[in-house]
Amino acid sequence: MASVEFIDVRKSFGAHPVLKGIDITIADGEFVILVGPSGCGKSTLLRTLAGLENISAGEIRINGRPVNTLPPKERDIAMVFQNYALYPHLTVAENMGFSLMLKKTPKAEIATQVRPAAEILGLTHLLDRYPRQLSGGQRQRVAMGRAIVRDPQVFLFDEPLSNLDAKLRVAMRSEIKELHQRLGTTIIYVTHDQIEAMTMADRIVVMQDGRVEQIGTPLDLYDRPVNQFVAGFIGSPA
Ligand code: ADP
Ligand code: MG
Repeated sequence: MASVEFIDVRKSFGAHPVLKGIDITIADGEFVILVGPSGCGKSTLLRTLAGLENISAGEIRINGRPVNTLPPKERDIAMVFQNYALYPHLTVAENMGFSLMLKKTPKAEIATQVRPAAEILGLTHLLDRYPRQLSGGQRQRVAMGRAIVRDPQVFLFDEPLSNLDAKLRVAMRSEIKELHQRLGTTIIYVTHDQIEAMTMADRIVVMQDGRVEQIGTPLDLYDRPVNQFVAGFIGSPA
């Protein structure tokens, strides 16, 4: 578990500024959702926290510790994407235990660590299957399982449900909420689905063009949007 701080974080790609001074403080165990139009910098912000992009200025802290120069491996963060690339030639169990295999953890111990994650996600009966034998929702659960097995301090989700059909998306929302309640891990979650944001988040961060427009609870944003942009974004249909 961990607190996360972005302090005046700036990022440019060449001459193109993408993050223009982001300040966000996230409490230990909080579920924070980032929303905002396509291209406003949500994925880039997650990637800077994961250490996959260097920042141009500012500071990022995890548990109060600056991590600007820390390589991704040492940040203890797991990321789940919308295109959950599972290894096709590995079973569900092997996919979930992949990070442990890389660390040369003995097989028996990998099995011991994979089991509880599989139980949480209802994957126990699928551990010997291959990705091609799974439904979209099951594959997304394996991707989440792979992140859980790493036992990270922070989970980053980047539009994890956008490839699923509407019914499954609703079911997965509750599963992810439950997961958060069980594990208590800090979660930063990007979505363009405003119902997802309103129903899942402790707090929502509304971004536009590399800046934070407003941070607040779903109720705050709904009742007291600071400007027309936030009002429009929160009020508009998904
Ligand atoms: P979002 O996730 O909110 O849709 P992104 O963070 O993916 O937005 O992108 C923000 C902006 O940064 C976009 O204009 C995008 O084209 C640009 N961008 C993202 N990654 C790169 C990159 N590696 N090189 C150059 N430009 C990038
Ligand atoms: Mg994105």
